[in-house]
Amino acid sequence: MINASEIRKYAAEAGFDLCGIARVRRLGDQTQRLCDWLGMGYDSGLSYMRRNIEKRLDPALLYEGAKTVIVCAANYKNEHWDQRNSRNPRISSYALAQDYHVTMKAKLDIILRRLSDEHPGIRGRCFTDSAPVLEKSWAIEAGLGWRGKNSLIVTPRHGSFVFLGEIIVDAETDIYDSPFTKDGCGTCTACIDACPNSAIVSPYVIDTNRCISRLTAEKITDEAMSSPETHGWIYGCDICQSVCPHNKRTPLSAHPESRPLFDPTSADQTFWDKFDADDFHEICGTTPITRIGFDAIKERAVNFFEEQQDNGQQ
Ligand code: SF4
Ligand code: SF4
Repeated sequence: MINASEIRKYAAEAGFDLCGIARVRRLGDQTQRLCDWLGMGYDSGLSYMRRNIEKRLDPALLYEGAKTVIVCAANYKNEHWDQRNSRNPRISSYALAQDYHVTMKAKLDIILRRLSDEHPGIRGRCFTDSAPVLEKSWAIEAGLGWRGKNSLIVTPRHGSFVFLGEIIVDAETDIYDSPFTKDGCGTCTACIDACPNSAIVSPYVIDTNRCISRLTAEKITDEAMSSPETHGWIYGCDICQSVCPHNKRTPLSAHPESRPLFDPTSADQTFWDKFDADDFHEICGTTPITRIGFDAIKERAVNFFEEQQDNGQQ
């Protein structure tokens, strides 16, 4: 048995802004939602979403002996969280900083290591967007926030610009958090109204075939980049978060690893024309943009300015 207060202390010391604790259960109430979403093809053929559905619903199948899910969140909001007025190619604010897969995993590992040191015999596994875990459902279950109509978790203190990570352990804790039950969206529909591709097909439901964030985070063809349109975004898309009233009043991240490594709003045509593979390595080498690589980001930026010129001549 672990004390919940001990877990929260380790999470705060590892650099997390929020930590909630949920008892492992099969998320049977999510079955219909997940199957409906997959049935509509809204996963845009992401084959990994269709694999391991039972493991997604039940952490006990994912990790033998699982008893507790520790959900941690880190605020990553930086000064480029709202690029709607930028005249230059836009890059999602999370992608301007160090890759969260690496930074979140390092923080989660610290917590698990400390738990293992203090409680020999306890075993666990860390996850951050890396395995079949319904992390948004677990964030709600652990009391961190609610599912916004843009399908992202919105937390009362840090809004939706938060990374989530989970540790599944094979021990129980003395106290579990209550699920978050308040609906913080109310009658607001700002994210649905603002999405330029109508990718939020109904509250809480995203058609990823139309979602710029998903389309631009993969190496895809020019044809795919223009259909549907990407509206000036060359990697990621923050629009449905930038318009959210909850994000307007949340603080910027205090974490050094969330600081942007460059400013896309001042990266004009001259910047991108000169931008070469060495610059990419130096500026973007630790960011998630490495996922698509230099050639793709450069090509998209160059295309952005060519399209602007074409539109100006028409
Ligand atoms: S990330 Fe962009 S494209 Fe995707 S749902 Fe939000 S506003 Fe729409
Ligand atoms: S913009 Fe409005 S509807 Fe969308 S997540 Fe934020 S509060 Fe909810």
